[in-house]
Amino acid sequence: MTTRVPMVAGNWKLNHTLADAKQLVSTLAAEAPDRSQCEVVVAPPATALKTVVDTALGSAVAVAAQNVYHEKSGAFTGENSPALIRDVGCSHCIVGHSERRQLFSETDAAVHQKVVSLLEHQLIPIVCVGETLAQRDEGTTVSVVLGQTEAALKGLSDDQLADVVIAYEPVWAIGTGRTASPQDAQDVHAAIRGFLSKDFGASVAESTRILYGGSVKPNNAKELLAEPDIDGALVGGASLKSESFLPIVQAAF
Ligand code: PEP
Repeated sequence: MTTRVPMVAGNWKLNHTLADAKQLVSTLAAEAPDRSQCEVVVAPPATALKTVVDTALGSAVAVAAQNVYHEKSGAFTGENSPALIRDVGCSHCIVGHSERRQLFSETDAAVHQKVVSLLEHQLIPIVCVGETLAQRDEGTTVSVVLGQTEAALKGLSDDQLADVVIAYEPVWAIGTGRTASPQDAQDVHAAIRGFLSKDFGASVAESTRILYGGSVKPNNAKELLAEPDIDGALVGGASLKSESFLPIVQAAF
């Protein structure tokens, strides 16, 4: 019997002014379920983090950064450190999103450094992994996804892994309107959990949340989230409006 509390996280990407962000998070804060039912996380652009944290204060909505640089401080123009995103009140951070891997050349090694640095600063990494369409067609989905997972998590202790959330996001399903079938997604989630069990032990694998991401919408969320190893969703497009995000949250518990 699983005791995993589902998580639904909204990745706002490069969207929303301060006014829009404030309005959206106010609605989510008023409607979010208790954290014991489903953890709701939003990831605004860096410019809106502080506003969103302040607006969500006292509610069940947690706030994530969309990216981080692993160094603590120094001459790294344009970057934000774990200490700084924690300082504005974030509790989570997305790392290794396929857009960062593809458009900004983020490597497995960089993702690993970010995970370690976030955990050192008591921040919860939401680690994205996923195959391209070419890799799926070649039949290498599981090896690609497990390779990214292993690289991101190598050397972590069982205690550290307990704080990590993994998001399986097939690259071909992000922002395209195409979704993995619930069974295809479940198969990859089960493979990730099997890997975690082998490397970190059954107990920590059983308690680690593995989210699905890739064109999750109100009309497909229920089916996906009903799968035994799908513990929530990382949502892009549908997280930009409360009308489409809240039904996905409701579908998770
Ligand atoms: C994402 O960006 O993580 C994502 C899953 O986007 P979308 O839901 O729009 O496919």
